[in-house]
Amino acid sequence: MVIPKVAICPICGKKTYLRIEDGGYLNEYPFRVHCANCRALIKGVYIMGSSSGEYGLHMYNAKTEECDIDSVSHKILNADYVVDISGELPCKKVREFDGNLIASSPFLEAADQVDMLERIERLKYFVKNMEEWKAWRSIAFQLLDEGSVDFISTALRNKMGDYSYQCDNYLKSLHCLQEVVQEETKNLFYEPNQDDCISSLLGVLSKTDREQLHLFVEQMGGVQDVIASYRRVIYVFSAFMDIYPNILPAETYIRFNNKDKEDVGIATCSFGDIKTFYQDAYETLLSLMFIPVCLDNITLRNDFQVYNSTFDNLFGDWKYKKLPNDYSRYIALDNGMKLEKVQLSEPLQQLLNIPANRFLRNGIGHNNIKYDGLSQTIIAFDLKNPSKAKLTKSLMDMAIDCIGLSKVAVLMAEILLFIIRQEVRSENIHSIIHPRFYKKVELNDKCPCGSNIKYKKCCKAEIESISYQARKTTKA
Ligand SMILES: [Zn+2]
Ligand SMILES: [Zn+2]
Repeated sequence: MVIPKVAICPICGKKTYLRIEDGGYLNEYPFRVHCANCRALIKGVYIMGSSSGEYGLHMYNAKTEECDIDSVSHKILNADYVVDISGELPCKKVREFDGNLIASSPFLEAADQVDMLERIERLKYFVKNMEEWKAWRSIAFQLLDEGSVDFISTALRNKMGDYSYQCDNYLKSLHCLQEVVQEETKNLFYEPNQDDCISSLLGVLSKTDREQLHLFVEQMGGVQDVIASYRRVIYVFSAFMDIYPNILPAETYIRFNNKDKEDVGIATCSFGDIKTFYQDAYETLLSLMFIPVCLDNITLRNDFQVYNSTFDNLFGDWKYKKLPNDYSRYIALDNGMKLEKVQLSEPLQQLLNIPANRFLRNGIGHNNIKYDGLSQTIIAFDLKNPSKAKLTKSLMDMAIDCIGLSKVAVLMAEILLFIIRQEVRSENIHSIIHPRFYKKVELNDKCPCGSNIKYKKCCKAEIESISYQARKTTKA
């Protein structure tokens, strides 16, 4: 169902006919509309469900009125522009309005582009997870963020999916967290899906030489430093959860059959909603990029300090020459250079495939950017020559990159947990990965956790014990 309303620009008074999607599976969604005349950003939230007392349109900074429809011509008399608004689907951007009431639903057009059943399942999943995130799960992440690991498992109710789980060490607590991370971000992964991505990642990691890995961890500063890095990655994930409702249409757009339509935009988001996330995620993930890079060094060149030959010239530069070794030279590179030097031919860097752009990052950081809310286009300018555009990008593409950065955060977190697992094994601290990854494993197969040990000698006992507990609780 489409609800018609007219929003009055608080700055110039021009009126925009809003065609608002009502119904569907979301409980509510944010919306952002730029006035086509003065570009003022009109913000609000739309709440679904006529049973709720809050039902309907809530504007934060503009007034609305009903459409004034001429009884003879059926024209809407009080609107200069028109825009389509949906919380879940990409839809048409703000445009000039000729007064003719638009009867058809704009959302049928978008619905043509995706598998409807899959979309409904995905939305229901999003709504359920988002509710749980707001209600209680996010508390566990706050505890980690503030360094209180002890109560994390209690906060997550000692659960791994449907399985009860005895969290008797900090590593298991981190795994319970990671389980939530995987669950909340499942639909951000699309072709390949999340399970396949994580399995490939653990497959690559399982081949890492353990002695070299240990030397690398020592160089990093020990397991405590790996845990500190995990906390930083998890912070990216928590920040993503705040903007997830703003970029939900982008998640749908990734699945569109035809992505060439010029007039398709995103009505839940403006540049201001996602720029901080983009910048922070960029900095955090690139500052941790040395971890997959060093692991690739181990896999391909048997030494965490031997980099791809493309670094030879760079490291030979006088700036870096005075540093004692290539490891410290790499660490000394700025994040922009680390991004430029990502080697997609190396296994982990290829799996992560970080969707970052330094011009966009610098544009945000130095306020050297222009956003046109009408065309939903971002232009980043050259730092030294402010009239020269370095990058033009649509808001939709930037939202898709935010999804990509979150995916990198999930995979980076998996890498860090893998490292912790290997390092603390000798101290008899052990944790499984999610039970679903063990479904197809045979006794003599390599364990899916990436240990490079046979399953029967690795996670088997623990998997059987939690499956047994799960059966007991189902019966009871
Ligand atoms: Zn205006
Ligand atoms: Zn295992």
